[in-house]
Amino acid sequence: MNELNKQHIDACRFCWMCRHICPIGNATGLERNTSRARALGLSLVTRGVYDMSEVIDNVYECACCGACTKECVTGWDPVMFTKAARLDAALEGKLPEYIMTLVENCLDFGNAYGAKEIGAELKDAVAAHEGITDTLFFLGVDARYKAADIAAVAVRALEKAGKSFTVLADELPSGQQLAYLIGAADETRAQMAACAKQLNQYKTVVVYDPQDASVLKREYAEWGIELTAEIVTFTAYLAQLVKSCDIKPVKVDRAAVYQDPFQLARDLSETQPARDVISAYLNLDEMLCNGKHTMWAGNILMAQWMPKVIEDVAMGRIANAKGVKANTIVTASVSEYVALKNAPQSDVEIIAIEELI
Ligand code: SF4
Ligand code: SF4
Repeated sequence: MNELNKQHIDACRFCWMCRHICPIGNATGLERNTSRARALGLSLVTRGVYDMSEVIDNVYECACCGACTKECVTGWDPVMFTKAARLDAALEGKLPEYIMTLVENCLDFGNAYGAKEIGAELKDAVAAHEGITDTLFFLGVDARYKAADIAAVAVRALEKAGKSFTVLADELPSGQQLAYLIGAADETRAQMAACAKQLNQYKTVVVYDPQDASVLKREYAEWGIELTAEIVTFTAYLAQLVKSCDIKPVKVDRAAVYQDPFQLARDLSETQPARDVISAYLNLDEMLCNGKHTMWAGNILMAQWMPKVIEDVAMGRIANAKGVKANTIVTASVSEYVALKNAPQSDVEIIAIEELI
């Protein structure tokens, strides 16, 4: 924990001006799920009062969605010190057992779930695109192992444009799961370097999962992992295909709202391409907290250790949609799609952007 992180921790620990914006805190109603509570615990660790093991569960109750960082008018960054705390815990051997299992799975199998085979629905789609082309469609570990059905729809959506592209049976992990779980450890960088080598065999890499797009475009550059391939988000690529008429939308008179993934809206400042695609098919409305102010709707990874909270996070976002009388949410993140689909409700239909196509 360097001095910069300690400074941010001390600035946050007696403040809670961003408490209203945390999707986890809103789901649990607990003060421990605020940036300032996490900072207060860590400030006691940095002063030697607590051991890291006493606060580490709380450190893993954060989605690192950056809503608090975005909201902070004084410029403090809870995501930065939360990731630093995770790296410290990993280096000191103080990770909780449930996180250690996920980390070991990332190292042994390339995915936190310990899956060895890609989902059955994807196998045919991958086999149809195994030839070498200039363009790689990078699926990511959540799509390959936990959401093969919707990932197969994404492959079919790209086929509609009639362009050649490759999907790899032996796709390597981007390192986004390790980056989230243990931050900038040597193991994370090694996984990223191996992935970069694979991606650099292509001219263009279309990245399906915003979680991968964010680390490929930000952490790789920050941590000196060289990427020569052009990285394009799936949403930006689809918007281009619609604009160039390679995909020809048929518009229906039906309203929908868009769930901005924070990795696109905040990390990469990308909010318009998905809106351009959705508007070509449906009447686009906006719900509370949209664009860079988006509220995270849950994911697959955190559901491994806090499934009820993720269900409540998704229900919170569905309540936002119902607040503007929307009965359809369009997603552009495979993990948010799964979280929203798993929510116990039937009032609001969840559609992935690839399903529109
Ligand atoms: S991020 Fe900013 S608003 Fe939030 S607790 Fe820290 S200092 Fe306060
Ligand atoms: S990064 Fe997101 S989940 Fe974590 S404390 Fe901030 S708002 Fe909450």
